[in-house]
Amino acid sequence: MNSHIHCQFLGGSDEVGNLAMVLELEDMRLLFDYGMSPGKPPSFPLPPPPVDMTFLSHSHLDHCGMVPWLCSQADHRIVTTDLTATISSILQKDTVRIAQMDGYSVPFTNADIKEVEHSYVPVDVGKQRDLGDDYTMRFHSAGHIPGSLMFELSGEKRLLFTGDLNVIDTRLVKGTKPVACDILFMEGTYAGREHENRDRLEHEFLDKIKEVNNRGGTVIIPAFAVARSQELLMVLKKAGYDIWLDGMGKKISKIYLKYHKHLRSAEEFKKAFKHVNVVHSEHSRKSAMNGEVIITSSGMMDGGPVLSYMNKLKNDRKSAVLLTGYQIEGTNSRLLIEKKKLNFYGVVENVDCEVQYYDFSAHAGHSELVAFAKQCGPEKIVLFHSANRAPLAESLKDAAEVFTPMKGERFAL
Ligand SMILES: [Zn+2]
Ligand SMILES: [Zn+2]
Repeated sequence: MNSHIHCQFLGGSDEVGNLAMVLELEDMRLLFDYGMSPGKPPSFPLPPPPVDMTFLSHSHLDHCGMVPWLCSQADHRIVTTDLTATISSILQKDTVRIAQMDGYSVPFTNADIKEVEHSYVPVDVGKQRDLGDDYTMRFHSAGHIPGSLMFELSGEKRLLFTGDLNVIDTRLVKGTKPVACDILFMEGTYAGREHENRDRLEHEFLDKIKEVNNRGGTVIIPAFAVARSQELLMVLKKAGYDIWLDGMGKKISKIYLKYHKHLRSAEEFKKAFKHVNVVHSEHSRKSAMNGEVIITSSGMMDGGPVLSYMNKLKNDRKSAVLLTGYQIEGTNSRLLIEKKKLNFYGVVENVDCEVQYYDFSAHAGHSELVAFAKQCGPEKIVLFHSANRAPLAESLKDAAEVFTPMKGERFAL
């Protein structure tokens, strides 16, 4: 029998953001992720056709951001981990709050977010569920952030949807492993780019902090609240610094403690969190300024407590800002790394303190993606989640038939 599989990206194929993929099988239609791009203004994927079930890979906004709108339009069952469900709603609420502050609109409300809680179908890594009579869905860790999943659909063909993936072990989660499949849907964020060796990166990062502290400065680490802040807490744990944690990372850390089964080592994370001073008042924010290291959101420096710290330390040449995430175009952190300036709520000012970037990415780099894809052994590979898929398509073209679909394009597999 000849199977009929069709695929369509409603967004997120040739961009990092707005991810939504529709998969049509014989008699079933499935949706994978339904994200947004939380820019200024925010953008959204195309509306979906009616689907039988939705699978949510993880709790980053580019994957989960528009789930409340989705569920406000029709009944949906959203299959994901309990941790992803919990953190997604926190980020969605924050999106509504930020949009209101910035004067943009998002097409859902806090009431819609609350309503989604009833739509989640919690699943766990290593488990599986039957889909119809002919298919089984199995859940694998994606190694990207705690609670992140890859979805393996097996029936007549074996399909794997990676979401965002990482293959190296980080402090928070173990790297993922290839899964044998016929058709591989793989992210390509780092197509054409490699990461520095993680151990070396951690050493350089810790050495820099020591250097800044030794000259009497404070280290400010703007970090994403989800996973990056916690990863850094664990990296810093052994060094014994006086560390302060501020912003939404505090709340997410407490959630990680509660849903600790998703962590590589709950014990190690607990120890790391115990070492940290949590900022919960203006008074402790002042104490943090005298500390050695401050980890705070937002990662892109477009808002959050990081700006109030920077406002005080921006002209202190002894202090340093250590960026740990990629600086997306148009963000404050990009302005900082390129021009040594920061926009403080409309006023652009020079920054004199030291600025460095450390690539603590949670995505596989180019050769890691190539090795992962080859070890999955697929006949066909569909690349998404990248503004630059060509180098990856080139590296994989001898191993499989490679697809680089555009938004809205429906194609047969
Ligand atoms: Zn992600
Ligand atoms: Zn992503």
